[in-house]
Amino acid sequence: MSNRRKIRRPGASGPGAARLSPPKSAWRRRVRELLLGWYGQERRNLPWRGEREPYRIWVSEAMLQQTRAGTAAPRYARFLARFPTLRALAEAPLEAVLAEWQGLGYYGRARSLHRAAREVAERLGGELPAGLAALRALPGFGPYMAGAVGSIAFGLRVPAVDGNVLRVLARLLDLAPPVDKPPGRAAVEKEAEALLPRVRPGDFNQALMDLGARLCLPRNPRCGDCPLEALCAARKAGTAAQRREEDGLFGGLWELPGWMAEGRPEPSEREWARACARHLGPGWKAGGEIARAARVLTHRRILFVLRRALPPEGKRISLKDADGAMWVDAEALKALPLSNAQRAAIAAGRRGIGEGQGRLFG
Ligand code: SF4
Repeated sequence: MSNRRKIRRPGASGPGAARLSPPKSAWRRRVRELLLGWYGQERRNLPWRGEREPYRIWVSEAMLQQTRAGTAAPRYARFLARFPTLRALAEAPLEAVLAEWQGLGYYGRARSLHRAAREVAERLGGELPAGLAALRALPGFGPYMAGAVGSIAFGLRVPAVDGNVLRVLARLLDLAPPVDKPPGRAAVEKEAEALLPRVRPGDFNQALMDLGARLCLPRNPRCGDCPLEALCAARKAGTAAQRREEDGLFGGLWELPGWMAEGRPEPSEREWARACARHLGPGWKAGGEIARAARVLTHRRILFVLRRALPPEGKRISLKDADGAMWVDAEALKALPLSNAQRAAIAAGRRGIGEGQGRLFG
């Protein structure tokens, strides 16, 4: 018998195989821990988060299929005010549902919601079924919708693979085959299933979606902020792009204008001046410090340093919205989706200037 072993050249990969060695159970356990820990602290503050009522979860998922979370949030509340229960939706004429959907686009989603609500009301006693096969039999319930509603509303251990999840898992595994082709997609779906925890599968699915929407961005993944950085094969192999996303708006979340001075305690005055000009316009300057707020995440510590912004002297200024940025008053701010870290920074800023003595926004 030969004592030679079959070895793989590092980086070599066959169809459907990951570039690095396949995930082990310890790796999966760590992914679950880190991702759920991050989600607990950093999950987007959206109106359907923590929702337990299956009908409301279903409506949110239908809206989110083609609409950004920031746009869907106010429309979700409006839709539920108009159709507060599955029965109310089933009894409404289709025209009323389509009218309420106006502006969200992809009206097929509204038609499917209405058709499925009628079917559930007539055949299933008005309650969404708690089993995967029964969900899949309803209009509009493809694999993603059934997985999302099944895991979030009923705690079923089923994956919900949308575009964000595909991207995150393809990078985590550094998959060689493209995920828009059957072998790549099948490899992602297999891993999505293997990764699911027995408890909180719905939170885990939502955490993966959030990670894709906020950090594992299509063009500029923010690996330095990612809780899975140390476990990510694409990060190790250098196949994930590295540049930071610097726009104020990303992944449906809003944030204060600013930038990250990675690893350095104090940014220079030149950096402050450049940031003011970039975010507010020529002539704006950084004024005195207002407040500091520290935030400890699962994998890193962030120190927010908030300073006043001084408009150009002798000029009448108008606060214009710009690409990806807008001025909002305190009331409008409450309705915007923000991370918990951003909320903490804003609260510190408010305390720093003293309510009524100045305005942070607009
Ligand atoms: S480390 Fe980077 S590429 Fe990997 S999952 Fe996180 S954000 Fe995505």
